[in-house]
Amino acid sequence: MSRLFDSVRYLKGVGEARAKLFASMGISTLYDLISYFPRAYEDRTRIVPISELQVDEPACFRAYVTSTPRVNHIRKGLDLTKLTVSDDTGRLSLTFFNQTYVAENLRYGEEYYFYGTLAGDYLGYGMTNPVFEPVDAPGVRTRRIMPIYPLTAGVNNGLISRTVQQALGVCLAEIPELLPEPLRAKYDLCDAAAAYRQIHAPDSFAALDRARSRLVFEEFFIFSVGLSMLRSRRSEKHRPPLRDLDPAGFEKVLPFSLTGAQRRVISEIASDLSSGRVMNRMVQGDVGSGKTAVAACAAWFAVKNGLQAALMAPTEILAEQHARSLEPMMTPLGVRITLLTGSMTAAQKKNARQAIASHQVDLIVGTHALISEATDFQNLGLVIADEQHRFGVAQRAALAEKGEDPHILVMSATPIPRTLAMILYGDLDISVIDELPPGRQTVETFLVGESMRGRINNFIRKQAEQGHQTFIVCPAIEEGETETLRSAEVWAETLQKAVFPDLRVALVHGRMKSAQKDEVMRAFAAGSYDILVATTVIEVGVDVPNATLMVVENADRFGLSQLHQLRGRVGRGTAQSYCVLFTDNHNPDTLRRLKALCMNNDGFAISREDLSIRGPGDLFGTRQSGLPAFKVGNLVNDLTILQNAQAEAAAFLSSEELPKRPEYAPLIERIRALFSDDSAPN
Ligand code: ADP
Ligand code: MG
Repeated sequence: MSRLFDSVRYLKGVGEARAKLFASMGISTLYDLISYFPRAYEDRTRIVPISELQVDEPACFRAYVTSTPRVNHIRKGLDLTKLTVSDDTGRLSLTFFNQTYVAENLRYGEEYYFYGTLAGDYLGYGMTNPVFEPVDAPGVRTRRIMPIYPLTAGVNNGLISRTVQQALGVCLAEIPELLPEPLRAKYDLCDAAAAYRQIHAPDSFAALDRARSRLVFEEFFIFSVGLSMLRSRRSEKHRPPLRDLDPAGFEKVLPFSLTGAQRRVISEIASDLSSGRVMNRMVQGDVGSGKTAVAACAAWFAVKNGLQAALMAPTEILAEQHARSLEPMMTPLGVRITLLTGSMTAAQKKNARQAIASHQVDLIVGTHALISEATDFQNLGLVIADEQHRFGVAQRAALAEKGEDPHILVMSATPIPRTLAMILYGDLDISVIDELPPGRQTVETFLVGESMRGRINNFIRKQAEQGHQTFIVCPAIEEGETETLRSAEVWAETLQKAVFPDLRVALVHGRMKSAQKDEVMRAFAAGSYDILVATTVIEVGVDVPNATLMVVENADRFGLSQLHQLRGRVGRGTAQSYCVLFTDNHNPDTLRRLKALCMNNDGFAISREDLSIRGPGDLFGTRQSGLPAFKVGNLVNDLTILQNAQAEAAAFLSSEELPKRPEYAPLIERIRALFSDDSAPN
């Protein structure tokens, strides 16, 4: 009987209380525990002579205790233990805070290994709270590569490390081998047992690298196979091919001509729609690249072929805006369009629903919520989801259940690199609008500190005097969520009362009811306010061409892609527009990140930068991004492994015989568990 799935409770040192703590970290079984990987490692292998210790560089050294440790009781709650240690090259004084046991454990005249960080100033050098072990004891805290685990209150690194080792002792031999021998041989990957052993207690950095590579490969391989299985399940679905898919007729009703990129994407959509299979396509395009026109053309294709189409937006106001801007294009084409949102009156909704059910309307524009609710369509053949980056794989799967396998088109304003898109949206085909319509102005972007506050306020006033409007985005809603963050509520009030008493300041944030939010947004769009103080609720889509200035408070708190989205809220009219990023954070990485945004207007380049600095989990500055959380794999640094794993996944799936081999059984079992029919990966 496998002990892998035994509870951690039965390990030594883990009682009921600690088991609860572990559970809160997602660790219930021994398998969970050994799959809880270190987040970093400390190199304690290098032993240096005292004379070569460097300030601020943690290191190990071997030394004799050359003074009897003395405990000084400074005051209640503060005891200092001081002693001197020496080797052939020099002497060093050590200080321990509140570790009186040190006096008994470090004996005069005996030799120990220490690990710590040298500190120094004009008074001399010293070390505080080093860890130590007798020279004849096995190296646990010195002379080795130390795993550093992600921690939670009440669980320290030593506890995790010890229990992991205990668990490995019990079940190392039982870890299922998910990568059969030929695959491991081909990519020179170690076996599962070695990988688990080395990732927790590496013998060397080379061994650690090997362990990690193997686990990353496994993780990406499983994910790729799973996603492809989802995708093939979907592409088996058929629909009669649509006909007569020439965009020329559509272009005639537009006040502009399509860009080359828009045309290319439209033809990709057309070839899906005429293929006889159900379309599953994502269109990525930077803010302002003209995704709406592409969506409209696709809708027209469907309607021309006697189908209904639905366009879903994440908010009511965006749905309304789409309906308003689509109407003049669609009406001349004979497409009947209706809006369907929660804020419509019951009678309006009833009318709209009747018109939908009897196919008196062809294109339905509404919120995701309403359209995915029980709305009876007559012949729904195409569903378009706008601003898709807010939805994960699971939501897409749910969407496909709507209607009789409608064609699906998702529009995302967050352009992401192709390799990442393959992982994220491996179940979708991807089109990219990689060109902006001609004559787009770039939004001038500035990074400023608090010292510029007065000048920026004058600038806001100047915009208002010229009849233009300003967005001010704050990271928090209320004061005190965290002490140092600007809160929208308080800031709006301060600005209105103390800074701009003569201007009209409005407030919108995510905790307002959506009707309330929409009302404020509508009023702002109509020009009833000069300044809108907001949280990131305004990130998506609302078009206010008269807004020329975007100010972001605590800009360092946002992801670059998110800032780019926010910046996309201005520069939509003809007037020169500006974006001002406030930060008083002096971290060089943070400044580099924000400066990259100032110099760059290309969403792709920005998301690449974001990815390489913050990792994919933060790409959208939101946890709902639908990104899979990889335990070991890093989508930026492990690209080669990702590509290999994807190639092997494809080979595995296209083979008749491989999936039937017994050595692949554990893998298939694992994928089933992770990608069961009703739980899409997320
Ligand atoms: P997004 O991709 O951000 O959704 P939109 O579809 O809202 O962008 O388009 C942004 C603006 O660009 C709209 O005002 C739209 O009318 C305009 N636009 C779209 N395509 C073109 C084009 N080919 N030439 C000129 N303007 C265009
Ligand atoms: Mg859009």
